[in-house]
Amino acid sequence: MTGDAIIDNHARRRRLLKLGGATIALAAIVVIPNRTDAAVNAALRAALKYQGKPEGDKNCANCVQFVPGASAKEPGGCKVIPNDTEISPQGYCVAWAKKV
Ligand code: SF4
Repeated sequence: MTGDAIIDNHARRRRLLKLGGATIALAAIVVIPNRTDAAVNAALRAALKYQGKPEGDKNCANCVQFVPGASAKEPGGCKVIPNDTEISPQGYCVAWAKKV
């Protein structure tokens, strides 16, 4: 392998690493347009199988981890999904635990 080929391989690898890092950063936190304070933690939502609808009588509003939004119907946060301001009170995930 020539010196130029080795330099080309290093440059290509650096570019791929940069792209990979950017993709991971975008997947982790997606900012919703028109609301500068709104954010979704897509990676943790997927890991916890979050869904925007209840599972039977289990929902975020009656989960001990839920952090209510401005009103009972508005999205809030979740103690186990940090950096996410769009958790629906009617949502659900596998980390649900009954609020007592
Ligand atoms: S742990 Fe799951 S069910 Fe409970 S508030 Fe968070 S997202 Fe909703």
